[in-house]
Amino acid sequence: MVNEKSASLTDPLESLLPERIAKQLIAFDLLTVDDLLRYHPRKYADPGKQLGIEQLDVGEYVSVFGEVVSAEVLANANGGYRLIAVITDGMHQLNLTFFGKSREKLAYRLRELKPGARGIFTGTVSQFNLTLQLTHPDYAMVSEAHGESEIRLQATKPIPLYPANGKTPTWVIQKAIEEVLDQLDQNSVADSIPKAVCDAENLLPVTTAFEYLHRPDNEAQWRPARERFRFEEALVLQTALAQKRLQDAKSTKRRPLPSSQSITSSRVGKFDQSLPFTLTEGQRRIGDLLSEDLAADQPMQRLLVGEVGSGKTVVALRAMLQAIDAGAQAALLAPTEILAQQHARSITKLLGPLAQPGPFAAAPEVRVELLTGSSMTSDRRKALLSTISGEPVLLIGTHALLEEKVKFFDLGLVVVDEQQRFGVEQRDKLRAKGSNPHLLVMTATPIPRTIALTAFGDLDMVELREMPPGRQPISSYVVHTDNKRWVERTWERVAEEVKLGHRVFVVCPRIYDTEESELASVDAVLADLQVNLALSGIPIEAVHGQMKADDKDAVMQRFASGVTPIVVATTVIEVGVDIPEATVMVILDADRFGISQLHQLRGRIGRGAEPGLCLLLTSADPESSGGQRVAAVAETNDGFILAQKDLEARAEGDVLGVKQSGRNSSLKLLRVAQDGEILEKARNYANGLLAADPELNSNPALKQAIASLSDTQQANLVKS
Ligand code: ADP
Ligand code: MG
Repeated sequence: MVNEKSASLTDPLESLLPERIAKQLIAFDLLTVDDLLRYHPRKYADPGKQLGIEQLDVGEYVSVFGEVVSAEVLANANGGYRLIAVITDGMHQLNLTFFGKSREKLAYRLRELKPGARGIFTGTVSQFNLTLQLTHPDYAMVSEAHGESEIRLQATKPIPLYPANGKTPTWVIQKAIEEVLDQLDQNSVADSIPKAVCDAENLLPVTTAFEYLHRPDNEAQWRPARERFRFEEALVLQTALAQKRLQDAKSTKRRPLPSSQSITSSRVGKFDQSLPFTLTEGQRRIGDLLSEDLAADQPMQRLLVGEVGSGKTVVALRAMLQAIDAGAQAALLAPTEILAQQHARSITKLLGPLAQPGPFAAAPEVRVELLTGSSMTSDRRKALLSTISGEPVLLIGTHALLEEKVKFFDLGLVVVDEQQRFGVEQRDKLRAKGSNPHLLVMTATPIPRTIALTAFGDLDMVELREMPPGRQPISSYVVHTDNKRWVERTWERVAEEVKLGHRVFVVCPRIYDTEESELASVDAVLADLQVNLALSGIPIEAVHGQMKADDKDAVMQRFASGVTPIVVATTVIEVGVDIPEATVMVILDADRFGISQLHQLRGRIGRGAEPGLCLLLTSADPESSGGQRVAAVAETNDGFILAQKDLEARAEGDVLGVKQSGRNSSLKLLRVAQDGEILEKARNYANGLLAADPELNSNPALKQAIASLSDTQQANLVKS
């Protein structure tokens, strides 16, 4: 073994620990001193009140010092096994009970709890068959390394409990860590968090944090230690991301698309003058930001997060016009045909004369083309010809845009609407059709900061939170289907709204009835509503994903124009659909939908001058998770609050289809639901550090930490 205090973080464990132990630790991927010291306790057992056996009361949390009298493994009547050990303090006896699925699972405890072995046992006192016992106590055995008095002292302190297994129990890991800590040369340890940052953020220096993490005297030591490592993880991650951003920016150049906003004869200029409304301050601010981005010689990488109905389309349209003004072309990718069609229609309308051929049949200033899976061959050919021949095209479409055949003369800007519906690969496929085109990704699913700062770490996020003026509030109510009167009243309200000239969405979780399920289906609900007396005489139609694109579009147009004021739909109408006259959203079996989905659906109403009403019908128990989701949505209209709730509700944090749970090994201590603030701080520091020292030469520890990010973490960085 090496001399005292001469070990450094890079030393392999086998040079410091008995070979047998070092080998066991390899199973946990612990190879170096650094690995081991950064192996975090999963929790800390509180020190129990130290009592003699005769002083014990049922329910009390205690630590008892004692010697093992006997230990044996018995079969349970209902399968499984239990280990019963009896300990004594010399006068009285106490039972310890451990349960296990097999004899093997209990074998290592049997080895530890040999008759004559002494230790301190910590747990809650219970009573079984009139005998007091501790069930699954934590324990530390007296060994050559630790005498009784040392163990007694130890028992007044929190016991770190490490992720362990039967072969290598937590106390073996604990002992190995202590051994290594004793040998560590503290002066050799470089801190990956610069001292100035530690001071500013009140963080423990790394060596103190190692001590407090692994052998704390009390909670007031291990908590700040854990905090420090949490911050460290965030800093490493954010510095890695920032470095990647900088490298991307340096290595990719593109032709600038200079700003044309202030030129009145430009397309943007003309568009701004003809707008039927004034841009909100947020729309203007973000517009300026994008305009600057486009004028740079590096591709923009923006994520625009906007509340549903906040008016993202206009913002994107102005950016696309700037690209076209500069002689490039633009593409807008939408997730559904309904949405692509709606965009084509509303953008053409917004553009007005700009999209119409000029006098003497001159070409229009902007050519809006639509390309979807169901476009007719002739339309398709026309669209493809215009993009490849370099016309001022704004191509709108669905996945069809990604096809091989679609080629651009000079694609300058790619806009991806409702990004949550697309994978990164699809985004990149479209970008590959130009030479480093700018990218604007838009979503109405508010992304919690943590997700934005990790999964989308390479995009610069901007938020559009304010709504255009004149928006009326949406009131939301949970209607429990047990209350027949309320259900009736729901359809009466629907009829009243229709009489006022408004439109109503009725959303169901499925298209057709099935044998197995009682859930509302579009098919059955349409039939029911058509014979509902309250609604008699009102045209009602259905729209769902299995209909042909043209049929869907026809229904939506009749709905928009008011010919059919009620549609019964699936979630095909979830994203983006913009019909100002729609005032009521009835969602059947609302507990079947996720929080973000309900919020998106609700976003289809309240887009005009009339107040909206969202009725969430459910038969779920209010205490159930579905019932609670529905209640949460009824409680607030703030998408950002709901996104956070959604995230907390999903233990796995599978938001936007991006698995970002702490457990999937890309994040160790950070938790997506809670640590947005830390990540944000870390991101700012990371930017500052790299600005001063791009290669991190003055901080080898941080550089090293980035280099040794796990493969999964590396992959995640590249993927995002
Ligand atoms: P989202 O952000 O959900 O995509 P849209 O872009 O579809 O929202 O805009 C919602 C509606 O608000 C559209 O009808 C649009 O024309 C309108 N709108 C956008 N900006 C403004 C504004 N500044 N003032 C008034 N209405 C606006
Ligand atoms: Mg939209």
